Amino acid sequence: MAEWRGEARAAVGWHSVNDIKSWVESANQPQTDFPIQNLPYGVFEAAGHASIGVAIGDFILDLHACAQAGLLNGLRGEVARVCTADSLNALLTLGPDAWSPLRARLTELLEAGSTWREQAEPLLVPQEGAVMRLPVQIGDYTDFFTSIYHATNVGNLFRPGNPLGPNYKYLPVGYHGRASSVVVSGTPVRRPLGQTFTGDAPQFGPTRALDYELEVAVLMGVGNPLGEPVPIEKARSHIFGLCLLNDWSARDIQMWESQPLGPFLAKSFATTLSPWVVTLAALEPFRVPAFARVEGDPPPLPYLCSAEDQARGGIDLTVEVWVASRRMRESGIGPMRLSRGNFRDIYWTIAQMLAHHTSNGCNLRPGDVFASGTLSGPTPESLACLLERTRRGTESFGLPTGEERTYLEDGDEVILRGYCEREGCVRIGFGECRGIVTAAT
Ligand code: CA
Repeated sequence: MAEWRGEARAAVGWHSVNDIKSWVESANQPQTDFPIQNLPYGVFEAAGHASIGVAIGDFILDLHACAQAGLLNGLRGEVARVCTADSLNALLTLGPDAWSPLRARLTELLEAGSTWREQAEPLLVPQEGAVMRLPVQIGDYTDFFTSIYHATNVGNLFRPGNPLGPNYKYLPVGYHGRASSVVVSGTPVRRPLGQTFTGDAPQFGPTRALDYELEVAVLMGVGNPLGEPVPIEKARSHIFGLCLLNDWSARDIQMWESQPLGPFLAKSFATTLSPWVVTLAALEPFRVPAFARVEGDPPPLPYLCSAEDQARGGIDLTVEVWVASRRMRESGIGPMRLSRGNFRDIYWTIAQMLAHHTSNGCNLRPGDVFASGTLSGPTPESLACLLERTRRGTESFGLPTGEERTYLEDGDEVILRGYCEREGCVRIGFGECRGIVTAAT
């Protein structure tokens, strides 16, 4: 047996980790989302049960099978045990002291020249055809509103000249969303019914203003006890990783119902999550300074400000929305890109969101999700929902088939993508977050 040396690798910085290749050849392709530097976690169906896996190139390494084969034996006992669970929740509970050696061990199993290849290779499953599940059991889901560009654009549609609320630059605005209707990528999204007010009287029927919102989701690792806020300096150590999230929205329902208490049924019919959780460890090389506030903006209050977070609290993550209509698919036309923006353009960092969320003593639990809000950037190319792009449905745009759109039609598939690229680093990606709109009942 080869000697266990995971702990040593865990201490190596990302500069040298960057040079590692995998014996899984597809993981070494320049455009893969899943090189050995990524190793995102997901849950897939294997042999009649749900199994935790890690994406590597075009494959999934089955961690349940790895644990059973004794390949995780060098780790703390409970790490191998939680890898046989049917969701990531138990792994999230263990915290960075367990995540880091596990990541190091998986790197050791999968790196080129590994003496473990013979034992690990039979435990690979092709991603193509694999059925993915939600990676976590989500207890609570919160949605923030952290793109100042989105907040300004939407505010200007409804309150021209006075778009931002007086609180916007002082706290990350958010609302409590609905966890029960968060679904994994690939799940069809049925056009919701709801109450709207478009003429003289309210009416009930299918939404005529179905929209997507491109967002990044943050997955809580270690929770905090009720009554004990997480200080901003410790916030990142509570976060396991990030996913892509589509916060489907029915704008006509939203307009009518949301005063004065905010989003309700216009959002809770479906929220789509991507299947692979990209860890903060994998995102480490792509950290950038927090959003640069313009002169005259107030500094964050002390409980939302740390020097470390200001210096490195942003993440350089390119995010895109693509769409394919039914007719495009039937004509063999590939998806069309609708927007491209960057997660670094949010006004509040993920640590600030977490610190604020817990600042009143609210407890977050492993597997809880909070999302960034619509990730629009400063350019027209980066408008991340149709409400902004079509100016509340008043300006249509064309698809390659000649079809016109203001909002989504039945049969439209929305695809979110995300990836990190930086000179001198291996590119990593998030895979896709997909959903096809189906007709209302
Ligand atoms: Ca949203």
